[in-house]
Amino acid sequence: MSFLPDRYDSPIDLPFNRASIEEHFELRTPDRDPGGVGYWLMLQAGQLLVSTEGAQAALPSSRVHALPSSRSSAPIYLGQWQGLPCRLLHVSCDAALPEGLKAESLLARDPQLPLELLSLGGLANMILHWENVSCRCGNCGNPMQRLAGEWGKQCSGCGASHFPRIHPCIIVLIRKGDELLLVRKPEWADRRYGLVAGFVDFGENLEETVIREVREEVGLEVQNIRYVGSQCWPFPSQLMTGFIADYAGGKIVLQEDELAEAGWFHRDHLPTLPPRRSIARYLIDDAVNG
Ligand SMILES: [Zn+2]
Repeated sequence: MSFLPDRYDSPIDLPFNRASIEEHFELRTPDRDPGGVGYWLMLQAGQLLVSTEGAQAALPSSRVHALPSSRSSAPIYLGQWQGLPCRLLHVSCDAALPEGLKAESLLARDPQLPLELLSLGGLANMILHWENVSCRCGNCGNPMQRLAGEWGKQCSGCGASHFPRIHPCIIVLIRKGDELLLVRKPEWADRRYGLVAGFVDFGENLEETVIREVREEVGLEVQNIRYVGSQCWPFPSQLMTGFIADYAGGKIVLQEDELAEAGWFHRDHLPTLPPRRSIARYLIDDAVNG
């Protein structure tokens, strides 16, 4: 059973995009904590800790729930969740959970979290990554300090300012008539396929990344590259930009250090597809359903 929708009206509605939490959540900055009781956004080994007391998973309340004994970080104020302060806490992998809390994966094939908690957990994962990589300045190695009212930080040594780094990637569905090009990474389950994807490289625009990644991964040429939409992918800090493109030539030549398989699949006979929480699946469903 999944708590996620079977379809999304637009890519903006996909999990991890801000749209799915904006009704309940306002992002602020750590220096603006108003104090008082609120909610804990606790991550343990990439899993979100939720209260099991109600019919549906909920964020633990600082009024009700005890904290795990072993924590890896001080609480960081993120903003307001349902009108109360929401604070991020990194819980050690080996910490035992207090009664009434359980850990739910953010990357399960069928996440057992409602859309807004899945997205909020993703946001927490992205922010935690920034906090972990921004302790010291990349220029000179001195400690960094928070900038007021920002998520950026300033170096206490050389004075350089650093801001959260979000990495643009492309993901592309290639069509040839009624067939779709799908690929399988070695670490994926048998018969589980996805799409060509990769990071933007120096000096490229997004369409150039599409052309290069398709050439590198499967040895094909594409044309009519069209942007469809994007998705925040907070594992740890990517922005996935989704494209559709038409096959223009070439035979499949696999990049064997990245992929285990690649092939053309008729739209009526598709293998196991990515879960319905990613833009990969959105692009495939969109193409199949016209
Ligand atoms: Zn510095």
